[in-house]
Amino acid sequence: MLNWLKKWLSSTRLNEQPGSQTSFRAEWTKILVRRVAPYARLPAEHRRTLHRLIERFIEEKTFWGAEGLEVTDEMRLLVAAQACLLILHLPEFWVYPKTKEIILYPQDFGEVVETIGPDGRRYDVRDDKIGETWNRGPVLLSWSVVRNSGWIDARGHNVVYHEFAHALDWLDGVADGTPPLGDKSRYEVWRRVMTSEYKSLVFADRNGRRAFLDTYGASNPAEFFAVATEQFFEAGARFRRIHPALYAQLRGFYKHDPANW
Ligand SMILES: [Zn+2]
Repeated sequence: MLNWLKKWLSSTRLNEQPGSQTSFRAEWTKILVRRVAPYARLPAEHRRTLHRLIERFIEEKTFWGAEGLEVTDEMRLLVAAQACLLILHLPEFWVYPKTKEIILYPQDFGEVVETIGPDGRRYDVRDDKIGETWNRGPVLLSWSVVRNSGWIDARGHNVVYHEFAHALDWLDGVADGTPPLGDKSRYEVWRRVMTSEYKSLVFADRNGRRAFLDTYGASNPAEFFAVATEQFFEAGARFRRIHPALYAQLRGFYKHDPANW
């Protein structure tokens, strides 16, 4: 009886100590070092802030697995870490207040849409997506893409950065490529630089010219901001060299300087 009581007491005490929490945290840190490239380069103080944001993100958002996908802690962590990296220096946007749900699909997702072919006939075409962000609604992501998105991509792609840039853009109620910038004086130069860079990308796209920025950004100003965000974080040094004015605007907004990572 006494032995049993001793055992029970010691196990209870163990459970109440923050030890289990600490080992979980260590496990998270290992995953982040392995799977999210910028994490290893963050100074310790920024890592601590990122940890707090990640915890809050995971606590506040509901994750759903679509099409039978079972959502694991590692999936939550990888989405949260990359989403929170964008807002690491933006305490005013405390963890995407308008985004309540994240829906993970095992693969690309989409719907069948009817389209008219060049011959004038109707065709059903599957409109596949790897991510989508709704205003005041969920962020949808393809896990097959997210699972490797933490690595630096030579083409500068990162679907998590892309979709959460849309979420930031939606914060003021319109997805127009201009997130809330704070001080009113910043809007004029932002619009001037963004408009001029967007027009150059549209021109390059229409004329089949090579461009550093992904020409998907020529779809509209909202996609331009999302694509520019991906490449800003993924290929900062080249971005700064090729588009210094645009780089300066994004650095001013995100308060990150990835060219020096
Ligand atoms: Zn987009």
